[in-house]
Amino acid sequence: MLGKRQDIHQLAEQQWDLLVIGGGITGAGVMLEAARRGLKVLLVEQRDYAWGTSSRSSKMVHGGLRYIAQGDVKLTRHSLLERERLLKELPGLVERATYLFPLRKGVFPGRWPMKAVLWLYDFLAGIRDHRYLSLDEVKSRAPSLNTDGLTGAMSYTDALTDDCRLVMRTLLEGARLGGVACNYMQVASVKRDDTGFSIDLHDQCDDSRGTLRALQVVNATGAWADRLSGSEARVRPLRGSHLFVDPQRLPASDCLTVMHPDDGRPVFVFPWEGVTCVGTTDLDHPQDMDIEASASSQEVDYLLKLINSQFPGRNINREDVFATIAGVRPVIASGKGVDPSKERRDHAVWGDNGVVTVSGGKLTTFRLIALDALLATGLIDAAEHRKGQKSKAAMYEKLEGAPSAVDHFLHAEQDDEAFFSWLLERESVQHLDDLMLRRTRLGLTRPNAGCAVLKARREQIQKALGWTDERWQDELTRYLHIHERFYGVPMQHSHETLKAG
Ligand SMILES: Cc1cc2nc3c(=O)[nH]c(=O)nc-3n(C[C@H](O)[C@H](O)[C@H](O)COP(=O)(O)OP(=O)(O)OC[C@H]3O[C@@H](n4cnc5c(N)ncnc54)[C@H](O)[C@@H]3O)c2cc1C
Repeated sequence: MLGKRQDIHQLAEQQWDLLVIGGGITGAGVMLEAARRGLKVLLVEQRDYAWGTSSRSSKMVHGGLRYIAQGDVKLTRHSLLERERLLKELPGLVERATYLFPLRKGVFPGRWPMKAVLWLYDFLAGIRDHRYLSLDEVKSRAPSLNTDGLTGAMSYTDALTDDCRLVMRTLLEGARLGGVACNYMQVASVKRDDTGFSIDLHDQCDDSRGTLRALQVVNATGAWADRLSGSEARVRPLRGSHLFVDPQRLPASDCLTVMHPDDGRPVFVFPWEGVTCVGTTDLDHPQDMDIEASASSQEVDYLLKLINSQFPGRNINREDVFATIAGVRPVIASGKGVDPSKERRDHAVWGDNGVVTVSGGKLTTFRLIALDALLATGLIDAAEHRKGQKSKAAMYEKLEGAPSAVDHFLHAEQDDEAFFSWLLERESVQHLDDLMLRRTRLGLTRPNAGCAVLKARREQIQKALGWTDERWQDELTRYLHIHERFYGVPMQHSHETLKAG
């Protein structure tokens, strides 16, 4: 189980078939697919599981209309088939949601081009779920939406998830099959020799250091991939930010795609875990990758401007925003210096000196990405890779003793006592921010950083984790600092230029 975090010496005593670096969705997928094939696999994450991009996505398990519009039928089809698989396997964690694409007079794309795209989109997924909504229907579904030039909307379905919980569920499954994972364990360096790899680790919990051995290494560090790949830089880090808005002030019942008044970029406004989520931006992220990404003041202004132009009667301002979140997308650079939104989003696998690096791609296609990475290590052959791609076998089995919130998180009471017990015992919570920002989303979806929950659950948390009152105060200070600095609503204008593509 993930709950029993092994120390560096215990890890170093064992000989591993595969070391996976990075505890986001890509690493979790590689660990699961390796463990399923009986390999002795260890995953290490430098901070907390899903601390990187995989807790900061738009939460969509989707084919991506933009990819089909760009003519990328293969990527769209693979994504849609994986979407359908996850919908079937993890109901309650991946759920079908209705998307509305408002149509406005004289604005491209109009009803018929959208209908053609959606027909193909549904066809590739093997479903038929799109239809035209009249102006009256749109007005009743989205009563505050700006009606200037509005003629109706196209309705279709895709899926929403909780990205962190999808990572955790995948890690839990990998652990059930014998995989081992360890958070707050950073890889300092990787060296190849005649019999495999020697990997230097730095434990971020007790500051200890050690070296372990593995036959193969997969570098699944996403936007950090160039640091360990040993080859020339390929990743173009692009930041995207979202706002979590008070649902009383900005209610949403469907996922709306609305266009920004400044640059015509599509932005989503959708209901998620009791709040209204708005995003994303898309801009280069030249900042130090050791510093947690955060939304700039200009990104907040940009998203507020979108909200107030699309929902003019609402007068939404910073006080209505519970929290922000920013993620850095690992995009494989075309090298052509194109606009961020024009870069392709598919993944790449490359190797140098034996380290297999996998980066780019999407949350949705993590299973296929994992198979590609395993093929590149040579731990599976082409026949096994093909078999895996086509496999209809279940990915996830029932987890013994898990409360229903683990598999039905999207409808769960996140502060439920039994769920907290599970998280504290079984999901390697090391800090309060792990619990409030990633195991649950209480810190993002409740006002005041979810402090009311912390007050109510303090005794349970301290008892389960053996924290003294002093440790509790330290953890609280740390959590509130992180929340304010990286998940808060910046008031001051920063000096960077927002280039939304
Ligand atoms: C704004 C935004 C919106 C998005 N929306 C969607 C969406 O709706 N649907 C979708 O399918 N995809 C979406 N994506 C893409 C998707 O989120 C990413 O492709 C995916 O999360 C990448 O996962 P990953 O595991 O490769 O990287 P990450 O989740 O970043 O994981 C890499 C991990 O490696 C760790 N690491 C780095 N260096 C080391 C080291 N030396 N030792 C140990 N660990 C290390 C990091 O701490 C990090 O946790 C979005 C991305 C962004 C930015």
